[in-house]
Amino acid sequence: MSALPARRDEPASGFAAEAVRAQFPILATRMRGRPLVYLDSAASAQKPRAVIDALARFYEHDYANIHRGVYELSQRASALHEEARREVARFLGSRDPREIVFVRNATEGVNLVAYAFLEPRLEPGDEILVTEMEHHANIVPWQLVAGRRGARVVPVPITDEGELRVEDVAERIGPRTRMLAVTWVSNVLGTITPVHAIAELARRRGVPLLVDAAQAAPHLPIDVRSLGADFLVFSGHKTYGPSGVGVLWGRAELLEAMPPWQGGGDMIERVSFAGTTFNTIPFRFEAGTPDIAGIHALGVALRWLRGLGLEAVRAHEEALVGYALERLPRVPGLRVLGSPRARAAVVAFTIDGLHPQDVGTLLDLDGIAIRTGHHCAMPLHERLGLPASARASMGVYTTLGEIDALAASLERIVARFR
Ligand code: PMP
Repeated sequence: MSALPARRDEPASGFAAEAVRAQFPILATRMRGRPLVYLDSAASAQKPRAVIDALARFYEHDYANIHRGVYELSQRASALHEEARREVARFLGSRDPREIVFVRNATEGVNLVAYAFLEPRLEPGDEILVTEMEHHANIVPWQLVAGRRGARVVPVPITDEGELRVEDVAERIGPRTRMLAVTWVSNVLGTITPVHAIAELARRRGVPLLVDAAQAAPHLPIDVRSLGADFLVFSGHKTYGPSGVGVLWGRAELLEAMPPWQGGGDMIERVSFAGTTFNTIPFRFEAGTPDIAGIHALGVALRWLRGLGLEAVRAHEEALVGYALERLPRVPGLRVLGSPRARAAVVAFTIDGLHPQDVGTLLDLDGIAIRTGHHCAMPLHERLGLPASARASMGVYTTLGEIDALAASLERIVARFR
């Protein structure tokens, strides 16, 4: 048994976790006869009542296709759609809602930049720099366009602690580097990378920078103006919004200069068989009917998250991850992956003598949901010399008691099966 007392109901760092938690209906679910302990927020976050209600309300009262109808309902839906765009701009600190392109998810945002921005500029022998700890979403799209152009994707190594050093990035920027694509937060190690310093470096060396903020957006305040990157992507479903909607932010002058990447309705100015002209940004990149209700609900989710205060969210999650890093290593044979100085609310681990898959399955019997596998970061696992790991990831609703529940369950598993 742990020497630390069970603290299931105690909020971390004065943040009203239980009050926040009460807003998430799914967290009242029982799993296998026990309270659900949801520790897979890095894969997808659960949704607060405000978001669930916004979706239902939109379909009940405001739904019609956007940007097309002259009738009032369509105009109302269109106004709400553009309000969501302004809300995303506020969330990211952009002054210009034209810089916000709605996509399906972070993955689609990276693909859009790879095909519409980078591919036309790529020559054989060119290089795209990523890091060893990228999610596949920030590797494979670059490999696809590199393959079409005879270019290559080059990984920047990380340290044994799981950190990304600016000097290692600087060292690998060469005359053929055409793009730098870096995650802000690792979805496995939780490492918070020095994106501000990397952006400054990229600017100095004249290399366009895409920041993958899929794991940053739910946890850290973002201000694209002070960040100084060129593109940034994130997914709605990890930021307490619906699945199926995501965001690409790009500097207006770069978006303006980019050709369209998918053709269809809404992205055109005028179509004829003699030739077609295209709409202004961001609509040029938004072909076809989007997830209209989902985008509205994403705006609601981001407003809700801003309402909690991202500084307060960060403090809450720092307390959680600090506690997890103190408590989990007391489980016999448990090894936490990485020891970065700055870590978001993600802790990946292995347990000697137990396969992560089995650990996940056994935890599930206690109603505890964690992620096991390579977490879409196979090159990182290769770097770590591991085929797979287990990962507990936290969110605004996570309590210290849930970390205790995880640790206690792991201790029972170790005692019984190892
Ligand atoms: N980047 C990172 C760091 C991620 O963690 C994820 C999701 N696990 C993605 C990109 C891709 O997100 P999505 O599947 O929502 O496109």
